[in-house]
Amino acid sequence: MLLTTIAGSLPKPSWLATPGVLWAPWALEGPALEEAKRDAVLVALKEQETAGIDIVTDGEQSRQHFVHGFLERIEGVDFGRRVTIGIRADRYKAEVPTVTGPLARRGSIHGEEVRFARAHTQRKLKFTIPGPMTIVDTLADEHYRDRRRLALEFARVINEEARELAALGLDVLQLDEPAFNVYLDDVKAWGIEALHRAVEGLRCRTAVHICYGYGIKANVEWKATLGSEWRHYEQTFPLLAGSRIDQVSLECANSRVPLELLGLLRGKDVLVGAIDVATEAVETPAEVAATLRKALAFVPPERLYPCTNCGMVPLPREVARGKLGALAAGAALVRKELGAPA
Ligand code: ZN
Repeated sequence: MLLTTIAGSLPKPSWLATPGVLWAPWALEGPALEEAKRDAVLVALKEQETAGIDIVTDGEQSRQHFVHGFLERIEGVDFGRRVTIGIRADRYKAEVPTVTGPLARRGSIHGEEVRFARAHTQRKLKFTIPGPMTIVDTLADEHYRDRRRLALEFARVINEEARELAALGLDVLQLDEPAFNVYLDDVKAWGIEALHRAVEGLRCRTAVHICYGYGIKANVEWKATLGSEWRHYEQTFPLLAGSRIDQVSLECANSRVPLELLGLLRGKDVLVGAIDVATEAVETPAEVAATLRKALAFVPPERLYPCTNCGMVPLPREVARGKLGALAAGAALVRKELGAPA
């Protein structure tokens, strides 16, 4: 019980990409870049294993950004037509590609990455891809001109990809949906429907990650406007509890989410964010354990998976390494208290 995992991303080594920024430019190109990405995945797997993380990821080392890495290989998405738009309800600006025609998967998108990661770790393996609503919110659309329709089309493409990835030996396929904390009405109107279409027929466990974003300035400032209690999950968790998604990954550490909202996820695995990604201060194992103990009041231990609040890609590497270690050590403390093998 209390198997540890991470939301998905880890910082990239400086020999692969510029550290400390989102959409970081690659430091290499061509075959040298491909080799460096694979090397970085080996490092990411090893660092998680050494820290004691039970369900590992490839650290998202092979993609420049968690959304655009997926879109780059989809027909109908034109990266030659980039425009700058406000995303996440205009919280920050991003340069995004444009949908200019019918969507189609040109072929395998992340298959090689999953095959490589699977071949190099004995641990359980999770892979993350962006969810339909978050994709729709991270591009411009001149073709479908309807967010629900566009989301369902992306869900169809995601499902093709997800089936292939699951067949390669994934234990968990996670869809990242930070947009679920922004467009609450859309979650109800078509967000869950799109998730269901994306995971249809999958043989592995399925997860959805819903957070308040990376620890970047725009997000930290946004959070400061959200008041003393963040109750967004109150609207989405009952919908997720009734869905066919197996696991929900959420933000807890240093957040103003009232923890009783976790009780709304009855019957689901809950990936409790016990690591704050918005600070470079490394948690102590005792702090991680304290967050987990609070969550245990609302989530049974066999359903609780200690996790990070969000991806750690913007953090310095030594900070991320420290946080991985604290997560595993904090979970071990609580396992011991529960009488389970540490
Ligand atoms: Zn996140």
